[in-house]
Amino acid sequence: MTEMFEGSFTQQEPIPEAGIAAAERVLRSGRLHRYNTAPGETSEAELLEAEFARAIGLDHALAVASGGQAMIIALRAVGVQPGDRVLTNAFTLAPVPGAIAAVGATPVYLGVTEGLALDLDDLAAKADRGSVLLLSHMRGHLCDMDRLMAICAAAGIMVVEDCAHTMGAAWNGRASGTFGAVACFSTQTYKHLNSGEGGFIATDDAALAARAILMSGSYMFHQRHGQAPAVEVFDELTYVTPNQSARMDNLRAAILRPQLANLPRQCARWTERYRAVEAEIAGTPGLQVIDRPAAEDFVGSSIQFLLPGWDAQKIEAVLARCAARGVELKWFGGAQPTGFTSRYDDWRYAQAEPLPDTDRILRGLLDMRLPLTFSLADCALIGRIIRAEVAAVYQQG
Ligand SMILES: *Cc1c(COP(=O)(O)O)cnc(C)c1O
Repeated sequence: MTEMFEGSFTQQEPIPEAGIAAAERVLRSGRLHRYNTAPGETSEAELLEAEFARAIGLDHALAVASGGQAMIIALRAVGVQPGDRVLTNAFTLAPVPGAIAAVGATPVYLGVTEGLALDLDDLAAKADRGSVLLLSHMRGHLCDMDRLMAICAAAGIMVVEDCAHTMGAAWNGRASGTFGAVACFSTQTYKHLNSGEGGFIATDDAALAARAILMSGSYMFHQRHGQAPAVEVFDELTYVTPNQSARMDNLRAAILRPQLANLPRQCARWTERYRAVEAEIAGTPGLQVIDRPAAEDFVGSSIQFLLPGWDAQKIEAVLARCAARGVELKWFGGAQPTGFTSRYDDWRYAQAEPLPDTDRILRGLLDMRLPLTFSLADCALIGRIIRAEVAAVYQQG
């Protein structure tokens, strides 16, 4: 009998009951705006910020409307100006170059390795082409962060981390997001915390945090932020920092707080699922699993593998055969972007130099989400289906 997988790759777990109850309290209060508080009340957004700063281990956290807004604000807060060039990953998601374009800057793309991390040799070679690196830990793959920080320190490059896929991850025991000058996170439905839309900016730099708070649209309420910088830090900034209105509201913050408290456990559950799929597909002829460095403590909320050197028609055959058995793979090598799989050469607002090694890797790159609604048995089944279908197409020669 041919095994079929029946689950949905886009179905997340429900919001925890504590989050639903907290959301209901906010709705009944009518005070959804973060600065709309009753006397003596601390808003959900402010509480969430303090809890997030503590969880990540940075002095300041700001809750915002999306991960994309977090990156736009962070780039402005580190001083990126229109016309500047910003170094970034060629292998990332559209909001990353989009944030660079939104501040009037131009991305300079850096290649990807077969480990799906940023190519640090390419960074070293292009280090004189920009003074800011928007580093995207795409699909949760961390590069050698010690080497990256050494290259950037030597070249005077400021690092902005995009931790949309590494919330809860670490490199050599140090949390992802604590290496650069500032880190950005997303709480959009497909990330590690789910408020539909949302995000965070986190930093140890008080002046940077103050600029970000003002840009997010704090009016004169900047002291009503969890771990807000001291009032003096805002003195001059208040009059020269434009408001972008990108605040998070109390409803979303209420939904997020119980999820944040449970994040370490959820991260462990994702990685168990990743390992369950990986164990089944490893050793499949023609298929290359992604090597995960020992220093990388990743969160396996998605899994990738390579079909290196395969013809496009064969990869399409694998996709079709897996899809027929209920397994939805995404391919970064298709001629047209579908869903989330756009590539650096699809972002036509920013001219890209060709990156032949990156093109070769992306042509064979397959990707799959692992929502927590999948059981470990589901993951083993998915892995068996991939192994069988890849092997079947491979053996056709
Ligand atoms: C999702 C995502 C973001 C932020 O996205 P929003 O949808 O704006 O919250 C940033 N970077 C990467 C790599 C992402 O996948």
